[in-house]
Amino acid sequence: GVKCGIVGLPNVGKSTLFNALSSAKAEAANFPFCTIEPNVGVVTVPDKRLQILEGLVNPQRVLPTVIEFVDIAGLVKGASKGEGLGNKFLGNIREVDAIIHVVRCFDDPNVVHVAGGVDPLFDKEVIDTELQLKDIESVDKKLLRIEKVAKSGDAKARKAVESLQKFKEGLKEGKNARAIEADEDDLKAIADIHLLTIKPVLYVANVDEGSIKEGNAHVDRLKEEVANENADVILLCAALEEQIAEFEEPEEKEMFLGEYGLEESGLNRLIAGAYKLLNLITYFTAGVQEVRAWTITRGWKAPAAAGVIHTDFEKGFIKAEVIKLKDFEAFKTEAICRENGKIAVEGKEYVVCDGDIMHFRFNV
Ligand code: GDP
Repeated sequence: GVKCGIVGLPNVGKSTLFNALSSAKAEAANFPFCTIEPNVGVVTVPDKRLQILEGLVNPQRVLPTVIEFVDIAGLVKGASKGEGLGNKFLGNIREVDAIIHVVRCFDDPNVVHVAGGVDPLFDKEVIDTELQLKDIESVDKKLLRIEKVAKSGDAKARKAVESLQKFKEGLKEGKNARAIEADEDDLKAIADIHLLTIKPVLYVANVDEGSIKEGNAHVDRLKEEVANENADVILLCAALEEQIAEFEEPEEKEMFLGEYGLEESGLNRLIAGAYKLLNLITYFTAGVQEVRAWTITRGWKAPAAAGVIHTDFEKGFIKAEVIKLKDFEAFKTEAICRENGKIAVEGKEYVVCDGDIMHFRFNV
């Protein structure tokens, strides 16, 4: 599954956001996994298309696709040097697919700021620096390993040393690896050291409830700062999200959102943002027993997509029958889709599209 790590300085609203995410998971009544560690929450990906399919197929159960969020607390200045539990937490980041970096953009005299004043750029820099220091350590380790090989005249190793040095330079200048210009060879040279600052990032500006739509001066500064990282900034109010997540009835939730002039909760925007960030799409399987959403990376071909359901589906892949959701909505049943030529039979080279309804045929 897809895993996102929530990072940020203490007191910026990480736990509040994580709690909101955790109570939102209650929406999935028939969710298959339930035991999770205290700092790991599994959130269902809201998708209106599932309700459409449910209405058409009337299945016994509906299973949305999910994203895992990990609350990575304890990142403070000095973490990369092993202060506090810092090093352990940095290790947690290595395991995630994407980073959600929460930055405090709300003024509230009652909430103490670790550095004395609200300053999103300062906050971001403290966290970035720790991650960059850790990355420099990783680069140095690899350099140590291959510099000898390079000196013995190995051309490939020499090229790799150049690439690693380029990353080291950039990191030392305070750049995140994702913002360092790199070609394919450079990326190959660092592929096995899993740098932290190359992971895709989404910034969450935690604002007061009056600034969700328009933002504020803190948000403007943050946006300007991250422009070169090609990263999105999502505005939400974590304290408000905690309240929104409490509502069980969708109508109540909508009304509450309406009072703040919002159409969607920040959590839903965050989940959608993570999906977009990781270039993920959803396909569906729709049977009378189960209507289900599956997550794949955009561009995956049918066998790889089938492998998400079961590795046997991928190994024994023969073909896939594909119905477009629009056609299914128009013709209502698989049989009528078939009569109208709306079921495409696709082979191994078919690139699965967002919203496809898939039926795989395979050998066992
Ligand atoms: P963490 O240390 O990053 O996990 O931060 P917490 O989630 O524990 O939040 C720190 C404090 O800030 C708590 O007292 C929260 O109630 C408060 N807080 C979190 N989000 C917001 C917010 O959006 N607005 C306001 N005013 N306070 C918030």
